Amino acid sequence: MSDFEYDLFVIGAGSGGVRAARIASSHGARVAIAEEDRIGGTCVIRGCVPKKLLVYASRFSDEFRDAEGFGWTLPEPKFDWASLIAAKDSEISRLETAYRSTLDKYKVSIFPERAMCLSPNEVRLAASGRTISAKTILIATGGHPNVDRKLPGIEHAITSNEVFHLSELPRRIVIAGGGYIATEFASVFHGLGSEVTLIYRGEKILRGFDDDLRDGLIATMRGRGIRIINGQVFTKIEKTPSGLLGTISGGDTLEADQILFAIGRSPNARGLGLEALGVGMDATGAIVVDNASQTAVPSIYAVGDVTNRVNLTPVAIREGQAFADTVFGNKPWQVDYTTIPTAVFTTPEIGTVGFTEHEARAQYGNVDIYKGSFRPMKAILAGRDERMLMKLVVEAATDRVVGVHVLGPDAAEIVQTAAIAVRMGAKKADFDQTMALHPSAAEELVTLREKWLAPGEAAA
Ligand code: FAD
Repeated sequence: MSDFEYDLFVIGAGSGGVRAARIASSHGARVAIAEEDRIGGTCVIRGCVPKKLLVYASRFSDEFRDAEGFGWTLPEPKFDWASLIAAKDSEISRLETAYRSTLDKYKVSIFPERAMCLSPNEVRLAASGRTISAKTILIATGGHPNVDRKLPGIEHAITSNEVFHLSELPRRIVIAGGGYIATEFASVFHGLGSEVTLIYRGEKILRGFDDDLRDGLIATMRGRGIRIINGQVFTKIEKTPSGLLGTISGGDTLEADQILFAIGRSPNARGLGLEALGVGMDATGAIVVDNASQTAVPSIYAVGDVTNRVNLTPVAIREGQAFADTVFGNKPWQVDYTTIPTAVFTTPEIGTVGFTEHEARAQYGNVDIYKGSFRPMKAILAGRDERMLMKLVVEAATDRVVGVHVLGPDAAEIVQTAAIAVRMGAKKADFDQTMALHPSAAEELVTLREKWLAPGEAAA
């Protein structure tokens, strides 16, 4: 019989923590989990899932408008924010219940309170004051949205935590940030009818994504009426009788009903008693772990956003799975961080996997680029002149496709499938030999034949 009350104590019941708890239990471990908020974590409660529901809601405005081109006459559509939020909340509650049932089914003890580490094998529960011993402790506490705490008036701004619970749809919203969360909310609120301004301190939004996709998305967002201000930040936010007034670094002022800060996220690693135990933190405040998610203290592991490796739900889940299989299942394996597909659920959306053109040139030197830009079939009758973009990045020496980038409807769905081919090391010739599925937008990926030449290359 073990000297510890549990074999595993997990702090944080989000994507990574729940997966690790369930799998460790299935391997025979006695498992407990502490959660200070709602079971499901960021993704389910205040991230991917509610966001995607809002994305779906926001796209109906396009559908109603486009329907006319296909012969439909519709009454003036009306949107009710409160109904959407109620429907979203009920779905989130359903999912939370499903997560809880899974933990119950796997006999994981749930402690609904904040927890911290007291020693390498002890956890202290904040509300009940209980101390619980465990052979292994897993930190899966996720992250939180950053705000500029020094900004005068920052208390008037909201983050992605609050945006899902606004009592009404803001008529005017200003969003600070240029990452995927900021741009997604810009599209969501624009689609729902708000007047949207995006303000970003850098030169171009969506740093790290392929430049053609960034340029294409910026042009389309601007074409749709989203105002994008680059190279500026807020210097002050004031409350006025009619809402909020933000002053930006160029001196202009922006009126808004809500100001949303989406300027990045930081790991929830502080205040857990870890530093005192010798668990290392990096400059971003993330817990330092090795390839097996083990910290400098052998009995303490960490997975997910708190380690700031790749902050995506499927990555946290896989890290949780690998940890549990390795430590409790006698099946050691490590997460492969290459070719992780990802999406930006703007409208139009981005789907991307592998190297951007810029990264591939730095990595391989000689790369071939294939690009197609076209109006999707549906857009023609709908009278939209927005273009879809498909791009393949190919390592010239081997003909291997090392990047697939798509901007346009269903880009995420297309790229999830293309990611299998990229991961398997498919060559451009394999794409060429694959029969097109007609009529589809994705068929463009297997019919791109002409190498794209940069202006300098063309002249040579
Ligand atoms: P989390 O899911 O954040 O779970 C951590 C849990 O720990 C939380 O429930 C928290 O309450 C709890 N906790 C923290 N400290 C303690 C403590 N001391 N004691 C007890 N409990 C504690 N990812 C995607 O892949 N696709 C997307 O489309 C996507 N969209 C997103 C949209 C938004 C708006 C946001 C904010 C995030 C989005 N993400 C998306 C990222 C994704 O949500 C995270 O990568 C994922 O949730 C990380 O999982 P995790 O297990 O590391 O942490």
